[in-house]
Amino acid sequence: MNYKLPSSNLLGNPLNKNKSYVIIGAGISGLFLGYYLKKANVSFKIVERKEYGGGLLQSVQTEYGLVERAANGFIWCKEIQGICDDLDLEILAPRPTSKARFIVKNKKLRKIPLSFFDGIRLVQAFTKKHQQPFETLGDFGDHFLGKKITQQVLEPAFTGIYGASADQLSFPGAMSKLAKAFNETAYLRPAFKKMRGNLASDERKKRAAGTHCFKNGMGELTQRLVEYLKDEIEWNIDGRDLKDEKDNLILTTPATISKDFFKNQNEILFENLRAVHYNSMISVTAFFSKSAFSRFKEGFGCLIPKKEGLHILGILFNSCIFDYRVVKDDLLSLTCILRDDTADLKQLNQTDEWFKSLIVKDLDALFGVEESPLELVVSRWKDGIPLYSPSLYHSWFTMDETLKSVFPNRNLFGNYTGEISVRGLAQSSHNLFKGLGIK
Ligand SMILES: Cc1cc2nc3c(=O)[nH]c(=O)nc-3n(C[C@H](O)[C@H](O)[C@H](O)COP(=O)(O)OP(=O)(O)OC[C@H]3O[C@@H](n4cnc5c(N)ncnc54)[C@H](O)[C@@H]3O)c2cc1C
Repeated sequence: MNYKLPSSNLLGNPLNKNKSYVIIGAGISGLFLGYYLKKANVSFKIVERKEYGGGLLQSVQTEYGLVERAANGFIWCKEIQGICDDLDLEILAPRPTSKARFIVKNKKLRKIPLSFFDGIRLVQAFTKKHQQPFETLGDFGDHFLGKKITQQVLEPAFTGIYGASADQLSFPGAMSKLAKAFNETAYLRPAFKKMRGNLASDERKKRAAGTHCFKNGMGELTQRLVEYLKDEIEWNIDGRDLKDEKDNLILTTPATISKDFFKNQNEILFENLRAVHYNSMISVTAFFSKSAFSRFKEGFGCLIPKKEGLHILGILFNSCIFDYRVVKDDLLSLTCILRDDTADLKQLNQTDEWFKSLIVKDLDALFGVEESPLELVVSRWKDGIPLYSPSLYHSWFTMDETLKSVFPNRNLFGNYTGEISVRGLAQSSHNLFKGLGIK
């Protein structure tokens, strides 16, 4: 197979140790880059529009417990472990009660929502040959797993990460590591082996399983990075007001903002950035008494396939995943993730009361709700999750080439340039610095 894959998630020229940089944005992307630039003794500053850092990652303490406004954790990796060791920040491992992961089928939580015949189909997937490059994740799923398993298992899993359906997601964009493995083999089993083989064996041994976080939430990581970078960050500055054409800018802002840096300067970059579509996401964290549910199962959470006809896409069982998420043992904290698909974003602007009745209705169908939530925090993200569509994937190459030839002193980096997760952003930031003396 011949999947074209970007050589790095930083679009534009590679970093140069002898240059001085201005990073626009102190979200986790800008903070990771700043951390490594400082370690590599490269001159830089970060400018942030708000008076605080972290971007989407915000942790809030309420009367009943902790609320994460976006990411509730990260998949452990040695890069984040390295940063935390250096900053003396202890990583919080998941609780044993977070082991079970569920997919909803007929409004019931199932660990494996598949029949005996689906199992046979899965085994057969390993003998099938990959013949045509897959454009979308749906094409991959249909070919190897069939429509039913794709809709029942693959799609909800990816909706949980990318907030989009399988047919909307680019296969090499959303599954770049598997696409890379398919460049060497046409079969699924050796492809998975190659993906695993890319991890050095000592790293595999050291690997901690599952989602991790911090005692006081993801905000603790961004806070610690902000403290480490305090001399380099300038607050309350809109990066678009920087006028010096000679500045070496690394834009870590969402594409909706980054496009403005090219307005009336370069139509290709402006249009490609303007075309990045963001799904509007709503995260609703609700605290309940444990006694409020007549049939709750402990676990990490559940994914909800579209055909179940519910509004919630997935639920995280926060107080089962981590300690310190509720102030008393007889409380439950759940985060419900929703997406607003309406053209005029009608849902996003609804009141908290409206969301309350919506999620209570869904939760009642799943767990039997007998009491109202004690507290509810609604976080609305209009530009929540970039859509990893085939057109976004193709645009990476166009934007990379255009930056290199027309704007050699500008880079784009963020959750729309190849990695969406906190772990992926840490790993791709780290990879950029391999040549600059960072281990
Ligand atoms: C609901 C939800 C749940 C998620 N769950 C998870 C999860 O569980 N695990 C996981 O790994 N990931 C998760 N993600 C994804 C992850 O949180 C994001 O991809 C990541 O935080 C994005 O970081 P960023 O720095 O690229 O962008 P942002 O967080 O958007 O940061 C951009 C920064 O730029 C600043 N800025 C904007 N405009 C300007 C300007 N003009 N001048 C200067 N500064 C500016 C902003 O104020 C902000 O600080 C989730 C995302 C959402 C929305």
